[in-house]
Amino acid sequence: MRYRALGRTGLDVSALSFGASSLGGVFRAIEEAQGIEAVHAALEGGMNLIDVSPYYGLTKAETVLGKALRGIERDRYVLATKFGRYGDAEFDFSAARVAHSLDESLARLGVEHIDIFQAHDIEFGDLDQIVQETLPAMQRLKDAGKARFIGITGLPLIVFTEVLERVGDGTIDTVLSYCHYELNDTALLGILPALERRGVGIMNASPLGMGLLSSRGTPDWHPAPERVKRACARAAAHCSQVGADLAKLAIQFSVRESRIPTTLVGTASPRNIQKNLRWIEEPIDEELLAEVRRILEPVHNVTWPSGRP
Ligand code: NAD
Repeated sequence: MRYRALGRTGLDVSALSFGASSLGGVFRAIEEAQGIEAVHAALEGGMNLIDVSPYYGLTKAETVLGKALRGIERDRYVLATKFGRYGDAEFDFSAARVAHSLDESLARLGVEHIDIFQAHDIEFGDLDQIVQETLPAMQRLKDAGKARFIGITGLPLIVFTEVLERVGDGTIDTVLSYCHYELNDTALLGILPALERRGVGIMNASPLGMGLLSSRGTPDWHPAPERVKRACARAAAHCSQVGADLAKLAIQFSVRESRIPTTLVGTASPRNIQKNLRWIEEPIDEELLAEVRRILEPVHNVTWPSGRP
């Protein structure tokens, strides 16, 4: 496993990390014991960053993760969770809720501090409130030692640059972006210089495009436009025809970009975690990569709306 510096946090994070939304049964119903085994397989394989949220499975993911982490030395993992999103359309970024939310997460996770505490999907909030009320409240929790670092997450990349322009350097330690550095979408590269200039640690989530880039296909709730889903299905079929796996190519592609410190992949299957760990140590098939990128070219960087207009 390769480890890379996460901005100016001083943390070295694994190039491939564990996304725990899967533990909330977001993709399919899961066996709790299997989910716990997946977390252990991830840690044993060298992944040291775990990302979760109260939103995933409406607190279930945090609860299952808390069980998995019981008895594991606290310095073996960097724990990231979130607040502010509590349902598909339920958001609260108020200062009062931030503090309660952190305490609730600490209790569910069975830990005394969170390493990276993030405002979840800020495009659904009022950015004035995020800047004037939410971030100062998060800073107070950081000062109190309950959170070591603070960050923001979301889909439209513009919310990151907008918020960063409105706060002082060092206010935001990390940014978690998803579905913007993967085979069909590399838009994250466009804002890397702005993030790097401010020393912000970048976490890239969803190398499989939340299921777009695997032969299993997308879950019903997947927000991508149909033409993106169709192009990805064609790419998966092409890989199958030549005896390859699109998921493997997708994970290798995201992880090899050294300017992106870490990529978060989700799965509650210990077998898939082991596969993913093995895949990132193997060389990428450049010829297949070129073929797949040609298939995906017509939908490159095609995304979908998220948050307030
Ligand atoms: P992902 O792209 O990692 O895809 C997950 C899907 O891929 C699951 O269905 C999983 O079973 C499948 N998968 C994993 N390994 C596989 C393999 N080897 N072969 C075949 N299929 C495989 O998407 P994700 O889980 O949404 O993203 C990863 C993590 O990133 C999340 O768990 C979460 O922690 C974080 N995230 C955060 C936000 C946010 O903050 N707004 C949004 C998206 C993701």
